[in-house]
Parts: sequence; structure tokens; C-alpha cells
Amino acid sequence: MKAPICENCLQSESLCDQCKQKLDDNIITQKDIEVSRFINTLSQKIKSLKNVTIVKAIDATILTIVCGLGDGPMLVGRNGSVVKVLAKKFKKNIKIIEYYDNFEEFARKLLEPAEITISSVFSPEGQYYKIKIPSQQESNIGFTNQCLEKIFKDVCNKNVKVVFEN
Ligand SMILES: [Zn+2]
Repeated sequence: MKAPICENCLQSESLCDQCKQKLDDNIITQKDIEVSRFINTLSQKIKSLKNVTIVKAIDATILTIVCGLGDGPMLVGRNGSVVKVLAKKFKKNIKIIEYYDNFEEFARKLLEPAEITISSVFSPEGQYYKIKIPSQQESNIGFTNQCLEKIFKDVCNKNVKVVFEN
């Protein structure tokens, strides 16, 4: 299994200097660590989880786990068995989303089924993306706009402004 922390830190309760530095620099979060370690523990029973990559865990109204391309079905599990365990452990609804290199594709998958509009904006401060989500879908998204903007920054390294409007 691949995770935001190294193999040793997955197995142990403490963090090595390198992983500790990542945490201090906000490259990874406590939630990334918690989720990765828990999935690693599960992988002792559910062998298919040994091959998954955990990219990031985003703790919002819905706990969203970004995984490697093609790893989604393993993290969902047969009849949702793995997400059910995750939901019980973290006491939240779980969303599993595969990571796409293509930022727009990733954004659309993350925000499904909302119909979003993505535009590229050039401002004096530099280029950023504007994602427009219809207001009536705001309550279904499970993420605030600040949270989404942080996800796009942390996962895709893109500057994004998210607006809810029609
Ligand atoms: Zn480590």
C-alpha cells in the first residue's frame, strides 16, 4: 500500500523525522495519517487493499478519500463493505474518489452529480480557475468553498476559487 506517510510510519504509532516534517509543513494532515493507518490495518484482513494508493483524506461533512486511479472499487469493497467499515470508524459518510492528473476531470468527479462550470481566469495576481456550482446543489456537496479550494490546492496544486451561484 502507498500512502502520504512512509511504510514504517504506517505500521507504527509514531512518525519518522521525514513524515513529521511533512505534517509540520502541512503537506499532510493528521487525517491523512489516521485514515492511511486504518486502511493499512484493514489490509491485513482484506488483501486487495494492499495494492491501493491513498493520495489524501479530506475531512469535511463527508470524509473524502482520494485514491490512485483504478483503486476505487477496492476501497469501496464488495457491496460497499470497506466504505461501511470506514464510515463506522470515522462516524461520517465516506466518498471515495480516484485521482486524475487532469484537474478538470478530477473536479467534475469530486463534485458529481453537480453540473459545474470551470473557467480559467487571468488576474493581476496570476492565473486561477473559477469553479461555478449551482446554488441549489450547495447542500448536497458536503464541502464548503474554502475546503474545496484547499483540496484543489493540496491535491492538484491549482489555485481555485469556488462560487455557488446560478
Ligand atoms: Zn515516515
